[in-house]
Amino acid sequence: MRALRWHGKHDIRCDTVPDPVIEHGRDAIIKVSSCAICGSDLHLYDNFIPGTKSGDIMGHEFMGEVMEVGNANTRLKVGDRVVVPFTIICGECDQCRRGNFSVCERSNRNKALADKAFGHSPAGLFGYTHLTGGYPGGQAEYVRVPFADAGCIKVPASLTDEQVLFLSDIFPTGWQAAVQCDIEPADTVAIWGAGPVGQFAIRSAVLLGARQVIAIDHVPERLAMARAGGAITIDFDEESVIERLNALTDGKGPEKCIDAVGLEAHASRSIDSLYDRAKQAVMLETDRPHVLREMIYVCRPAGTLSVPGVYGGLLDKVPFGALMNKGLTLRTGQTHVNRWTDDLLKRIEEGEIDPSFVITHNVSLEQGPLMYETFRQKQDGCIKVVMKP
Ligand code: NAD
Ligand code: ZN
Ligand code: ZN
Repeated sequence: MRALRWHGKHDIRCDTVPDPVIEHGRDAIIKVSSCAICGSDLHLYDNFIPGTKSGDIMGHEFMGEVMEVGNANTRLKVGDRVVVPFTIICGECDQCRRGNFSVCERSNRNKALADKAFGHSPAGLFGYTHLTGGYPGGQAEYVRVPFADAGCIKVPASLTDEQVLFLSDIFPTGWQAAVQCDIEPADTVAIWGAGPVGQFAIRSAVLLGARQVIAIDHVPERLAMARAGGAITIDFDEESVIERLNALTDGKGPEKCIDAVGLEAHASRSIDSLYDRAKQAVMLETDRPHVLREMIYVCRPAGTLSVPGVYGGLLDKVPFGALMNKGLTLRTGQTHVNRWTDDLLKRIEEGEIDPSFVITHNVSLEQGPLMYETFRQKQDGCIKVVMKP
């Protein structure tokens, strides 16, 4: 089959590789009809997260048709159309039973490695380093889905791939980011990053009833999409984020702040990001936490910081004193995808939201390597790439 494989920094190739086979009774083999490139894939593309090996198959946002099921898999049958969440879940462990799916205790087959790095292992993830299982990803013609009876979401034929594909990740991710803010009707929610995750966080915050939603980025078409979704926008190249956020909140700061940027933050107007770049370049720091610093500084006391943006390792000069003394709540995590998908699928079916708004590029798998670069460079108005293997 054809698959997009990582061969090193900025080197993704569409290769021919062996087809996957059933390895366990609960597995299923999915023929991928649509898959997408995520901002999280860019962290691997840019080689900021350790644990990817040359030849690893990329991708964790995908859907398709069930081709084959293992003998213990009683829930799925050949021909079912399913969306596959990026978090692999057993559905039975203590964390899965509590709905904490992204920290499933059984799905990371390299658990010992992650236990060492993090103290306790999170769930296994598709196409996302050997620290989270080294599972071949979904930017491919076929994928083996472990514990497929627990994770897969069956989707109705009445909805297009483009409408349901993002249930695999970015829609529940933006939703969870907003839900974790416990939005109240008087709240201002400020969202850093108007990439795909930021776009879904904006629409989720609006759906959850925030009084004012403010989006921060510097890419014009992303800011325009944010405004179309109901946000006021701030271009961080053009003005001071902190001054404008204070001005929009009577000097008090936003009650709720969402970091939809993560470890590769840019900042043209601040000295701290130059410092981060220098330290990151000589490996004294793994991540660039400019957005986290800005959120801690500007957030209203007793407010909440919600962080869907991915961080990999060690952060420098995070003003923890301000966080503590202002009494801020910090909420984080890879998304507990299956916790939200029944509700979100219903909202799509009822026409409350059509997630396909975010797609700017719909291409073949062969064009994937080029699309990684286009998405990374934000060329050609690129916001979200969908590929058809
Ligand atoms: P993306 O790279 O397309 O978007 C990031 C956006 O942040 C870009 O538009 C960029 O211009 C903007 N940005 C950079 N520096 C900024 C700054 N200082 N202030 C404001 N905006 C800034 O990525 P995406 O697909 O939207 O993903 C966003 C983040 O969410 C990534 O870190 C990704 O890994 C993470 N993510 C997390 C989960 C999860 O489960 N928690 C799931 C999916 C994605
Ligand atoms: Zn993702
Ligand atoms: Zn589990």
